[in-house]
Amino acid sequence: MAPNGTSTGEGRPLKVLIAGGGIGGLSAAIFLRRAGHEVHIFESSKFGSETGAAIHIPSNANGLLRKIGMIPEDHGANMTEYVSEYAVNGAQVFCKDVRPLSAIFPYPWQLIHRVDFHNALKEIATSSEGKGTPAVLNLRSRVESVDVEAPSLTLTDGTTHTGDLLIAADGVHSKIRDFVAPGTPAPASSGSSAFRFMIPVDEVRSDPRTAHFVEKTGEMRMHCTTDRRIVIYPCRKNTLLNFVAMHPEEETEASTEEWNQAASKETLLSCFKAFPEDMQILLSKASPESIKLWKLLDHDELGRENWVRGKTCLMGDAAHAFLPHQGQGGAQAVEDGAALGALFPLGTQVSDIPSRLQLYIQSRYDRATMIQEYTRQSAFKTARGKHGGKPIDPMKFGNTNMNHDAYAHASGILRRHLAQNALFTRMPAAFGPTLSPRQDRFGKPRAFGTPSHTTSYVKFKTYKSYLSALLPSEELSIASHIGWATATFTVTRLENLDWLGGRGYSFFALHIHDVTNSKPAADGAAANGDNSESELKGDFVPVMFENLADPIITGREELGVAKVYATLDETTTGSSFVLSAGWQGTEFCKLTLEGLTPASSSETATAEEPPTLHWKVNPKANTGELVSVDLPALKTEAQKEWKASSAKIEWTDLEGKELESAFPTLVNIVEGLRDIKVVEVLESGMKASS
Ligand SMILES: Cc1cc2nc3c(=O)[nH]c(=O)nc-3n(C[C@H](O)[C@H](O)[C@H](O)COP(=O)(O)OP(=O)(O)OC[C@H]3O[C@@H](n4cnc5c(N)ncnc54)[C@H](O)[C@@H]3O)c2cc1C
Repeated sequence: MAPNGTSTGEGRPLKVLIAGGGIGGLSAAIFLRRAGHEVHIFESSKFGSETGAAIHIPSNANGLLRKIGMIPEDHGANMTEYVSEYAVNGAQVFCKDVRPLSAIFPYPWQLIHRVDFHNALKEIATSSEGKGTPAVLNLRSRVESVDVEAPSLTLTDGTTHTGDLLIAADGVHSKIRDFVAPGTPAPASSGSSAFRFMIPVDEVRSDPRTAHFVEKTGEMRMHCTTDRRIVIYPCRKNTLLNFVAMHPEEETEASTEEWNQAASKETLLSCFKAFPEDMQILLSKASPESIKLWKLLDHDELGRENWVRGKTCLMGDAAHAFLPHQGQGGAQAVEDGAALGALFPLGTQVSDIPSRLQLYIQSRYDRATMIQEYTRQSAFKTARGKHGGKPIDPMKFGNTNMNHDAYAHASGILRRHLAQNALFTRMPAAFGPTLSPRQDRFGKPRAFGTPSHTTSYVKFKTYKSYLSALLPSEELSIASHIGWATATFTVTRLENLDWLGGRGYSFFALHIHDVTNSKPAADGAAANGDNSESELKGDFVPVMFENLADPIITGREELGVAKVYATLDETTTGSSFVLSAGWQGTEFCKLTLEGLTPASSSETATAEEPPTLHWKVNPKANTGELVSVDLPALKTEAQKEWKASSAKIEWTDLEGKELESAFPTLVNIVEGLRDIKVVEVLESGMKASS
C-alpha cells in the first residue's frame, strides 16, 4: 500500500497456509507459488510410504498440470486408449476406441500411479526451480483446529501458525470442515466398498489364460453386474495393471477412515465368485499384501454458503468428496487449486480475500457438485439404493467433465469482477480493468509517483468575444466586464511517469482564463460569495494536443479532458525553445520563445494556480458538463523558472481543401485556434520542476 492508501499496483505476496499436502493441497500450492505468494503446507503424514493405486488424469486436469510444469507422461502416465464394458459372463458389451477423442479434448486423458503423481507435485511445489518461491512443506504437522477469521491453524503439537489465507485441503475426513461448515453432514458410506491392488502386466500377459486382458494397451475395462463392478486399467507406462473391485459393503468390513486397510485374497475372490474363471485366475494373481480395502464414501452437497468462512476455504475432497466412477476426484481437486491460483494474482490485498473467496465459490461450486452428481448417476446399484443403478454410458458426461479449463474459467470470472468494480469502466472490457494514471490493474486507485515536468508558456491578451465563442455551452462565460480576455498556450513535457513505466509525453494546450459556469455577477451575488454549490471558476481548456495515445484515451474517458493527438517536436537550444506541432508530417503551429533567462526570485512569486476546467461530454446523451480536473503531474512544488524576452505563435497558412487534406481530423480545431489574435504577449517563459 502506498502511504495515501492507494494501491502500489504490486502488493506484497500473501502468506497462504494450506492444511493437507495431497493432490489438491499440492496443486494449490504450485499455482499459488507461481502467482508469487508465500506458501506453507502442513501435512499430517510423513510421506514416508506414500500409497494409493492408479488415478485418472483426464483432459480437464491434464491441461492444468501441464501449465504448472507437471507433464504426466514424464512421470509414468500412459494414455487411455480404449474404454470397454464386459458382462458378468465375460462377453464384451462394447469397446470404444477413445484415441480419436484427442480431436475433441484439448489435452490427453491419461492414467497414472497416484504415488508418481503425488511425488511429481511435491517436487514441483517445493523445488527451488520454477516460478515463485518454493512452498514450505511441513510434514508430521497435523492440524487440530483453526481460526477461520485470523486466519490461523493450530497443530497437534500446540503451535499456531497465522497467515492471510487458509486453504483446507485435508481430504475426505477433513478436520477443518467442522470449522468452516459446522453442522454439515460428513461423507457417508455409499453402500459399496472396493478392493484396490496392482498386478504387473507381464505376469498377466505371460499366462495364456489371462493374456487377453492386456491385449490392448491403455484399455480401461469395466466388468459389471448390477451390484458389483471391477474396473481395470494400466499405469506406469502400461506395466502395472490397476484394479478397483467394487462390491456391496455388507460383504466386507472396510473402515470408513482408512486408505490402506489390508484385506484377504479369499474375501476378494469370494466377492467376485460369480465372475468367469479367467477373471478368477486374474484376481488370484494379486499378491496378498498388496490388497487394500477401501470404503466408497459419498458426500452430500455442502451448500455454497459452506465452502468458505472468514479467510478460510475448503477444497478438494474436504469440500466435495467423490465416488470413483467418473475418475474425477483428483481432477476436481486440481481444478480447485488452479482456480485459487487464478483468483489470487500477486497484488491481491488482504482486504480482497473475502470477496475473492466468493469468486472461488462462483467458479467452482456448481461444477464440482455437478460432477459429484454425474458420478452418483454412473454408480452401480447398492442396497442403500441411493446411488446409480442405471446403465450409463461411461462417456455420457465426458464432454462436460473434460472440456473445461478451471484456470481460464476462474480468470474470466476475476477479470469481469474487477472490471465491474473498477474505479473507471473503460474499453477494452475483455481484459479486466484498464490501466491509467489513476487506476491499477485491479481497478483500484494507484499512487501517482513523482514525475518531473517542464512547461513553456505564452500568456496573452485577446478579444473576449472571440474566446467566448469557443466556449462549448451557453452556460459558460468569461468573468470579465470588459472586452478583453486573457489566455495562455502551454507546452508541457512530463517525464518519469510511474504509470508509463518511467517514460513521459508532451501536451500542448490552450487555457482560457476566468471561465465560469455561474451567472454573470451583475447583481453582485458572486462577488458576495453567494454562489451555488456547482459553481466553478478557473482556466478552461478547450483542447489539449498530446503525442501519446495512452494519456489521450485515459484522460478523455476517465476525466473528460478534450485531448486529441498531434506530433509535438520540442527543441531547446541555449536560450530558445521551439515547439512544432503537426499531424502526419505537416506542421500546423510553431511556438517560439527567445531570450530565455533565469527569473529573479521576485519574478517567481506566484499566486495559487486556479482550477483547470474541462467540458466533459456524454456522447450517448449528447450533453456536457463543466468539470474541474486536478492534474497531479503538475503539482510538484519546487520550480525553476525562466522568462522569455519574446514569444511568437505562428499557424499554418494552408487554406480550404489544402488545409482539410493536411489536417482531415483537426481542421476545425486548427482554424478555431489560429483565429485567436494575440493582441499583446503579457508573459512568456518556462517553468520546470527541480
Ligand atoms: C494415501 C491416499 C491414497 C489414495 N489413493 C487413491 C487411489 O488409489 N485412487 C483414487 O482415486 N484416489 C485415491 N486417493 C484419493 C485422492 O487422492 C483424492 O480423492 C483426490 O486426490 C482429492 O485430493 P485431496 O487433496 O482433496 O485429498 P487427498 O489427496 O486425500 O489429500 C488430503 C491430504 O491431507 C492430509 N491430511 C488429512 N488430515 C489432515 C490434518 N488434520 N492435518 C494436516 N493434513 C491432513 C492427508 O494426509 C492427505 O495428504 C487417495 C488419497 C490418499 C490420502
